[in-house]
Amino acid sequence: MEKIQVLDKTFRLYMPEAEIQATVKRLADELSRDFKGKDPILCPVLTGSYLFVADLTRQMDFDAQVSFVRYTSYEGLESTGEVTKVMGFPDRCTGRDVIIVEDIVDSGISMEFMINELKKREPASISICTFFFKPGNFKKDFKIDYVGKSIANDFIVGYGLDYSGQGRTYRDVYILDR
Ligand code: 5GP
Ligand code: MG
Repeated sequence: MEKIQVLDKTFRLYMPEAEIQATVKRLADELSRDFKGKDPILCPVLTGSYLFVADLTRQMDFDAQVSFVRYTSYEGLESTGEVTKVMGFPDRCTGRDVIIVEDIVDSGISMEFMINELKKREPASISICTFFFKPGNFKKDFKIDYVGKSIANDFIVGYGLDYSGQGRTYRDVYILDR
């Protein structure tokens, strides 16, 4: 589909499924290169990364534990700037290599908050893997180890990403048609 309607907004096709899956494969190869034999824990952030982590783990060539976390900050098209913990990092992160898996890093406020939370668990290492990254909005200075695609400061939906809870289930990614 070239255009979709989500609630009151129209979105147009931005990243088709084939390109998404090729990107997932590249990220999975990078993780396999770096973590095979190391027994890391993947911590995907609900809800947006549910499709990404499912595809990512099926392309990796090593087994890993998966433990979802949930921190929220977005309402509609805007980040509230205030991050709330709904489901945090498990105790078993202590002493382990932990990979946080996100759908998108925008201002970086949410990720910085999560990194600080995870540090309290004293993991052996923290790595960040995000599918999308908006460098133009990024206000923090932590390192992002694995980036699928850097994008402009536009609002996207699909492949797990929502607009007010809708639009997540599309296999392609769509951009707001202003
Ligand atoms: P940050 O704290 O980095 O500003 O925002 C991170 C969170 O905001 C992401 O995990 C995601 O839930 C949401 N977000 C940021 N940009 C977008 C976007 O373009 N589309 C959607 N659907 N969510 C976004
Ligand atoms: Mg998210």
